[in-house]
Amino acid sequence: MKKFYLTTAIAYVNAAPHVGHALEFVQADALTRYHRANGDDVFFLTGTDEHGVKIYETAKEAGVETQKFVDLNAEKFMALKDILLLSYDDFIRTTSDFHKKGAQKIWSKMNENGDIYKSIYKGNYCVGCEAFVPEKDLDNDGNCPVHKKKPKILEEENYFFKLSKYSDKIKKLIETDELLILPQERKKEMLNLIGEDGLKDVSFSRPKSVLPWGISVPDDDSQVMYVWCDALSNYITGIGYLEETEQFKKYWPCDAHLIGKDILRFHAGIWIGMLLSADVTVPKAIYVHGFVTSEGQKMSKTLGNVVNPLEYVEKYGAEALRWFLLKEILTMDDGDFGHKRFVEVYNSDLANSFGNLVNRVVMMTERYLDAKVPSVTSNGVVMDKLAGFVKEYENGFESFDLKKACEALVSVVDFGNKYIDENKPWVLAKENDLKKLRNVLYDLLEILRFAGMMAYPIFPKTSLKILDQIGCSFEKNIKFEFKWGGLKEGNVVKKADVLFPRVEK
Ligand SMILES: [Zn+2]
Repeated sequence: MKKFYLTTAIAYVNAAPHVGHALEFVQADALTRYHRANGDDVFFLTGTDEHGVKIYETAKEAGVETQKFVDLNAEKFMALKDILLLSYDDFIRTTSDFHKKGAQKIWSKMNENGDIYKSIYKGNYCVGCEAFVPEKDLDNDGNCPVHKKKPKILEEENYFFKLSKYSDKIKKLIETDELLILPQERKKEMLNLIGEDGLKDVSFSRPKSVLPWGISVPDDDSQVMYVWCDALSNYITGIGYLEETEQFKKYWPCDAHLIGKDILRFHAGIWIGMLLSADVTVPKAIYVHGFVTSEGQKMSKTLGNVVNPLEYVEKYGAEALRWFLLKEILTMDDGDFGHKRFVEVYNSDLANSFGNLVNRVVMMTERYLDAKVPSVTSNGVVMDKLAGFVKEYENGFESFDLKKACEALVSVVDFGNKYIDENKPWVLAKENDLKKLRNVLYDLLEILRFAGMMAYPIFPKTSLKILDQIGCSFEKNIKFEFKWGGLKEGNVVKKADVLFPRVEK
């Protein structure tokens, strides 16, 4: 059995979840459900990043004790499991004891290997990035290019990580795709960033006198670890690095770190360097998604165009939101979230096309065949068509192009609807052409079975309902069976409630 270990970035808990988080969680969930249904042994880890200056300061401003503050916000992220129908196996919080010890373990390994040293650091620290921003990266006004805010000038004695020592190795891993970065543009971007000069050493700790909120540096209680060192470690501490458990040995190295494009340099640079330094195998791939804009613009509180994913779940259901995020937002690039478009897509793809196909096939089987699945056919044209769509679908999931996978599902649904219109079962019934009627309906029921299975990673609930309606036992044993003839003669087909009720604009 193949194993598949996937992580999301751990969410920074200085605020409540937004649609960008929802996008990443839903992408990760669809990927892991796909792999599970494909027979892989999957581990899906997510969690929250709970240290750092931003959190410390936000809590202070709010007048709440820091631990209480992170507890409250972490809860909001944990609640997403039910809200967005997430199927993760574990949720790691970086304030948990095993994580702290695990992060200290990797630090100690790096130290033993001579890669940690003490030095004076003077530089521009952006609190938004939780990072020193090199002079050359500041914009013309001297602001952080991401946060458009003046960084703080910091001068302090810190520990440093000798990242420069691993620069060439990292570059080679990326160039050869031994560390696969998808999409290609992000790989190029990372290689450009490494450039001729290579990666520089990184300030890796802060004095506790300035930042008391963090994980203590081993054997030096006056310093806390740099928040990125702490946070990145979650990918191994979360599966048992501390005690090198069986679980850790089984799932590491990670098959894919799923992240947003703004934190690529931390993952493809510092994190890989840390692992090389601590003698831990490097991950196999980094999947990078873009940002979500709203009505064509960057989301901001001042513009008042912030999309609240929870409102959409409440109004249209989690699966409608999942569909929009996966099918309408380009998987590997920026995409727009527009309300009008959301309703259009919901009505046309789900209420009309998909909902109609299910309805029509189930109703006709009831009406013409006493609700019983007829005997298996072998229509070569239909079989070939479906095989082609399944290939597209699998290719989408394997290459981190979830939009492509969704479109393959749309193709199956459209094909099914067209097949009804072309073969007109009602005419066959009227003309009493029972043999052809049975064959056409068997083909349609199989098309529906394929669509139901393909829908599973995207619509984890509705897909099971559809399969249940045609008497398919998918629910007990969620495994793809993309082999023609899976529906058995005599299965009873059941009517059900409307799956996707139409909504008014
Ligand atoms: Zn910044």
